[in-house]
Amino acid sequence: MARAISNVPQEVATLSLMVDVGGRLERRGSIAGQYCSLGRAFEMNVASASAGYSFRPQLLERRARLQAAAGSVPTGYFNELIAEIDSALQRIEIGSYGLCDACHLPIEGDLLERDPLVRYCLPHLSQAELLAYQQDLELAAQIQAKLLPPRDVGLENWDTQYRYVPAGAVGGDYCELIPLGDGNSLFFAVGDVAGKGVAASLLMTHLSAIFRSLLLLDLSLVDMVSRANRLFCESTAAAHYATLVCGRATSSGLEICNAGHCPGLLLQRGATQRLGSTGLPLGLFCGGQYTVTPISIGAGESLVLYSDGITEAQDPAGDEYQEERLITSLRDRFEQGAGAMADAVMRDVARFCRTHPPVDDMTLLVVRRRG
Ligand SMILES: [Zn+2]
Repeated sequence: MARAISNVPQEVATLSLMVDVGGRLERRGSIAGQYCSLGRAFEMNVASASAGYSFRPQLLERRARLQAAAGSVPTGYFNELIAEIDSALQRIEIGSYGLCDACHLPIEGDLLERDPLVRYCLPHLSQAELLAYQQDLELAAQIQAKLLPPRDVGLENWDTQYRYVPAGAVGGDYCELIPLGDGNSLFFAVGDVAGKGVAASLLMTHLSAIFRSLLLLDLSLVDMVSRANRLFCESTAAAHYATLVCGRATSSGLEICNAGHCPGLLLQRGATQRLGSTGLPLGLFCGGQYTVTPISIGAGESLVLYSDGITEAQDPAGDEYQEERLITSLRDRFEQGAGAMADAVMRDVARFCRTHPPVDDMTLLVVRRRG
């Protein structure tokens, strides 16, 4: 959910657009989409209305922690920090939180997530602040690049390909492909972390570390997702969550677990099945319950996972790419293998968007049973 063009702090704004459809959370529209059609005035309202809800708990927690550590910091510095936090809390109360002190336009969500006390938008940061921000971005991009799997991981029975295109310097999408100990099995995942920029990319690396650690324990898929949810819940702020679809491919077949993410697409000969969400996103509730769906997949058939950056990619008129066109694009290359399918989608999305810049990270993963 990292957005390149929206300046709105994302979590609450995005959550408010999630609706329950038959027990499944679905995203309906996005702030970035509305930004294009309704303009900046709308965006400013969203920023001031939602920012308080989103940042107040962590500001209060910060204040409590600071007070607990009062004796260990010089008094002048302590008073300065408390005053900064109190001023932010006051701005939340009067509705001006998240607006730049210099130009009164919304501060970039990425900046606020990185430092909830920031008072200036990107163009109005000081030279030193701007440099520090750029260095954070570069470091986060380097960390993230190292975490991405090799582009094609192949096993005796499975062929895989993924494409990962962050909207900004760093992304909040999670993409994983890990061959398992027996040499014939594979763990795969596509996820989408709430938030933007550096903060979202670091949460994504956190999620990746959780799964890599849990994979060593040889758990069932459902146990692994439940534990990942608890760990993610316990180690991140309440506003942080991630939608995720993950699975395991073995010599006997496939199983997947969808936690609030876009449906997996099972492309079979002559039919396409949507494998919708059966659980809440990770990080929302520690006691979240998950179910695993076994999938029967024939030779030459594919499971495709993607992030909503693809289906919600927009053309210059603001229309979205949507799942139907994604399925058509995949089916056109059904016989030609995982790489051809992935390339066809990315080319078609680029053709669709034309001059419209990407508003969200795009991830596509194809897991194909060798025929
Ligand atoms: Zn400004």
